[in-house]
Amino acid sequence: MRASLGQNFLTNKHIAEKIVESANLSSSDNVLEIGPGKGILTELLAQKAGRVLAVEIDSELIKTLKKKFKERDLHVCHPRGNGDPEKSLDSRLRGNDKKRITIINADILKTNLPKLLKENNFKNYKIVANLPYYITSKIIRLLLETRYPPAEMVLMVQKEVGERICAPSGKESILSISVKLYAEPEIIFFVPRENFDPIPEVDSAVIRIKRKENIPDMDTKKLFSLVKAGFSSKRKMITNNLSTSFNIPKNELAEILKKAGIKPTQRAQELSVDDWLRLCDVLAKLKTQSAKRKTKT
Ligand code: SAM
Repeated sequence: MRASLGQNFLTNKHIAEKIVESANLSSSDNVLEIGPGKGILTELLAQKAGRVLAVEIDSELIKTLKKKFKERDLHVCHPRGNGDPEKSLDSRLRGNDKKRITIINADILKTNLPKLLKENNFKNYKIVANLPYYITSKIIRLLLETRYPPAEMVLMVQKEVGERICAPSGKESILSISVKLYAEPEIIFFVPRENFDPIPEVDSAVIRIKRKENIPDMDTKKLFSLVKAGFSSKRKMITNNLSTSFNIPKNELAEILKKAGIKPTQRAQELSVDDWLRLCDVLAKLKTQSAKRKTKT
């Protein structure tokens, strides 16, 4: 058991069933699971979905998974070596189409995800996972921003993190905005800590993150530097935070906010994704105008 890898294994089969049911899978669905662990979800996913691709970092757990699943169902791949060194990852992955479960022994954050998905013909897929809590936000961001994002994710996360992601309007955070930009998140149900081995110090929540159909075209780097500046001091009004971060006089900033339909007295947590997008747009236009003015003079 490696606590540093967030290994709190789900022990309650009914909860595992409830998680898998929440994903509404059919045999035409492909599923990517992150951190299959001992395979409690993997087994049920393989019964409902077409194919399951599971990425597990711990090679000891790969041995457990090999024992659990039948040879005819399982293909294990070690992209970092261990397999046939003469063969590329592509060729090691190819030819496993008939196996229902493919286990990749790798770190999800270091995996070339678009390549892995493409090689497995996984452009249309869902994610179902009990995420390792120490890297939850990083994994969610990776999955939202990747070239081939999942249509839907059903994820078990730490309860507080789930609540923060699915925050009601007026209680937003950088995390909730970064998810709501791409998707609609909702809490499905809560899971008390006693359902894991070892028992963690926190309860969990199962959430659904459904990708939006129309995601606005935007410069995410600019947008998030704006959002981060807006949240730089949580208790302060948006005017104060942005004025300090971008060195813009408060009266000028009040005008900019007004153009974006935001009250200068509002706080960052009260702003929706649309508010941030409008504000980013107004600021970008002002920047272009002042650049034009400079080139004329
Ligand atoms: N799915 C299993 C369950 O529900 O019992 C295990 C869930 S456990 C919370 C998280 C799993 O993620 C562990 O098996 C852990 O080894 C694996 N893991 C941790 N970090 C990882 C990473 N960077 N890439 C892939 N798997 C990781």
